[in-house]
Amino acid sequence: MNPNVPQSAIDKVVAEIERMGSQPHISRGKFRAVIGAVGEEGNLDQEHLRSLDGVEKVVPIMKPYKLASREFQQDDSIVEVGGGKVPVQKVGGSQAMCIAGPCAVENEEMLHRIARHVRDGGATVLRGGVYKPRTSPYSFQGLGMTALKWMRDCGDELGMPICVEVMDTRQVADMEPFIDCFQIGARNMQNFDLLREVGKTRKPVLLKRGLAATVKDWLLSAEYVLSQGNRGVILCERGIKTFEDSIRYSLDVTSIPVAKQWSHLPIIVDPSHAAGKRDFVPSLAAAGMAAGAHGVIVEVHYCPSEAQCDGPQALLPEVFKELMEQLRKIAAIFGKEFAETAELVGR
Ligand code: PEP
Ligand code: MN
Repeated sequence: MNPNVPQSAIDKVVAEIERMGSQPHISRGKFRAVIGAVGEEGNLDQEHLRSLDGVEKVVPIMKPYKLASREFQQDDSIVEVGGGKVPVQKVGGSQAMCIAGPCAVENEEMLHRIARHVRDGGATVLRGGVYKPRTSPYSFQGLGMTALKWMRDCGDELGMPICVEVMDTRQVADMEPFIDCFQIGARNMQNFDLLREVGKTRKPVLLKRGLAATVKDWLLSAEYVLSQGNRGVILCERGIKTFEDSIRYSLDVTSIPVAKQWSHLPIIVDPSHAAGKRDFVPSLAAAGMAAGAHGVIVEVHYCPSEAQCDGPQALLPEVFKELMEQLRKIAAIFGKEFAETAELVGR
């Protein structure tokens, strides 16, 4: 649309897009609104749209992921996580985010202990799995809704939004009231029903890259969420399968500038799952930030040998704290800033 057009002009275009059987999606920038029309191209009368009041131009988006593309939205998306009892944390643009916590919530006491450590170290969002996607059905599978309630209480107590993996469409409605951010795991990146289901909510979604997914596949998965009207997608590069077997996965740092060129969505890096070993986590986190990521998600445990899941890759709290100090400096070089942890008052 032309800059500063009246709302009535936007409403008219939206109504015409709907009349032609497509779905309108409005993106508002500082001066102008862009209206996406998603549907069968052949059903859209472009000449007609061009003739409507306030329309500056009509541009077909060639990329298969429409709403996720830079063509649809030039400015970086800023995604907000939290609200209500916990502060809102932002990610995207110049705003970097650090999510940290245990791989899995094992009991209430360990959760509170680790949460205090990561908060102290500079994380502003708490992670912790309650449904775990384990390779073996005999491995610890997570404590489900009981652990989710501990996560909620812990997040509220420390003023940290919580990010928790959802594995199944049937869990979405139960989890939604408790979480601040859904995590879609690498193994579920192409669980299209699940993507649609979280897309129907208005909670942000951390979308891990699949183990063998291309950046295009990944953005198409983001498109599933966006197509349902949920704008809060955060991409997460967590390593892919390659022939290299000295590490758990190969962190594809290249995917960060690629995804940023193709899409406006924020992207963070998960050095823990890529490395598989704690020794390599700091280097990968630094590489991810230097490649342009908008933050990190890191696993931390005060006694990794006791962890029921992913112990070998968990950072000790003091190492995490040091790492965050370094990442703040790298972020600053690349024009980004991690939020400071707010003072805990009256909690
Ligand atoms: C996790 O975050 O603990 C996890 C299982 O991650 P991913 O889906 O990337 O393997
Ligand atoms: Mn893990």
